[in-house]
Amino acid sequence: MTSPTILIYEDHFLSQHLLAASLKSLGFQNVLIANSHADAIERVKTEKEITVLICTVTSADMRELNFLREARECGNIDSLLLISDASPDIRVALAQLARHAGYTLLGILRRPYSKADLHTAIAGYRSKRALGPSMPLFEMPSADDIGRAACNGEFVPYYQPKLDLCTLEVVGAELLMRWQHPELGLLGPAAFIEVAKHFNHLDTMTFSVLEQALNFIGTQQLGDRFKLSVNIDAAQLKDLSLHKRIRNLLAAQKFRPANLVIEITETGFLEFPEACLENLIHLRMLGCEVSIDDFGTGLSSLQRVCELPCTEIKLDMSFTKALLKNNRSVAAVEHMVKFSNDIGVQLVAEGIETEEQLNMLQKLKCPIGQGYLFSAPVCGEKLMRWMAERKTGRLLKTN
Ligand code: C2E
Ligand code: MG
Ligand code: MG
Repeated sequence: MTSPTILIYEDHFLSQHLLAASLKSLGFQNVLIANSHADAIERVKTEKEITVLICTVTSADMRELNFLREARECGNIDSLLLISDASPDIRVALAQLARHAGYTLLGILRRPYSKADLHTAIAGYRSKRALGPSMPLFEMPSADDIGRAACNGEFVPYYQPKLDLCTLEVVGAELLMRWQHPELGLLGPAAFIEVAKHFNHLDTMTFSVLEQALNFIGTQQLGDRFKLSVNIDAAQLKDLSLHKRIRNLLAAQKFRPANLVIEITETGFLEFPEACLENLIHLRMLGCEVSIDDFGTGLSSLQRVCELPCTEIKLDMSFTKALLKNNRSVAAVEHMVKFSNDIGVQLVAEGIETEEQLNMLQKLKCPIGQGYLFSAPVCGEKLMRWMAERKTGRLLKTN
């Protein structure tokens, strides 16, 4: 077998030469070094195939991410090996990004790494090639990891409160899944949702955290107005038994369907419109609410709202972020307030982080909102403590 062509893209002169020397001592003779972004792109374009691209991603400056995207577009790269000292959650997100960009990821090495680590990672390209395109499993949770975590009850509900922006009264909470990982600590959905979906675990995980949340919220004295929102992935909506399983769970937990909001992203509808619609109609008939999440980021947003039996629209947080910088965003929110009123649907602004954004949304008469200004997602106990402290007027936000 011919020696693989390995391209090193690493800014630091000493590191690149140490790495090249290690590779050569491991028997990899065909090692190329790129000193700059332009040099690396040129190499990718001129080589017939780069067997392994080794790229260092520094946490201070993530410009290598642009390089990875560009390199993928302009050349023939078989596998990717990253070197990064970033935190565990960023490393998991990097692995996701590499997969989305179409790379076969051999691993993410943390410095200092041994020659043996380097060898094992690089040698992986042969088995990956033999197996064909596959998930980059290094540093990503495997099906077994997720199955084990689900059995151990490591997936837990976190909650972010939703407030009436006029009275600042809490009107509900969004359930956001977290993985209480025994070694890595608390992980957000970016670290595991895609993998869970790939291995068909997401449904079990959703029902597990939803059951925990219904149980917890159902036993607090939160009043009839308080609604729990749950995110349901489009892939789950294609299963026509979904609405029955939700109905059974609500009945078993003695939770009023009217107090449950099903949040789905509009892009999901495009994939399985018929099954989605059928499930949503059943859920509405049962009494649940239906919310369109991240509204304004997908295609044909308004068309979707007209077609779907939704009771709520959640404006994507990009609108909130742009409110103070961009007059057009102000106009967009203003129109969304009017539109939602006209069609009798509740409007929620996501991602409120500052008093200024809150003031602007109040001025525009946006009725409901959530965001870090009030509270980040927190565990159930913390949510209850926060609500109790607010009642005594001590706090506006948690953390
Ligand atoms: P989402 O449903 O749109 O949830 C809002 C996301 O924005 C959450 O991220 C939340 O922590 C974050 N966020 C809230 N307020 C602010 C703010 O003021 N500023 C900023 N920058 N961010 C804010 P998180 O928890 O990482 O969840 C990300 C996405 O993962 C969610 O987006 C949802 O699509 C998905 N997800 C979360 N839990 C579940 C779940 O149980 N099932 C499914 N299928 N998806 C879930
Ligand atoms: Mg949501
Ligand atoms: Mg959202």
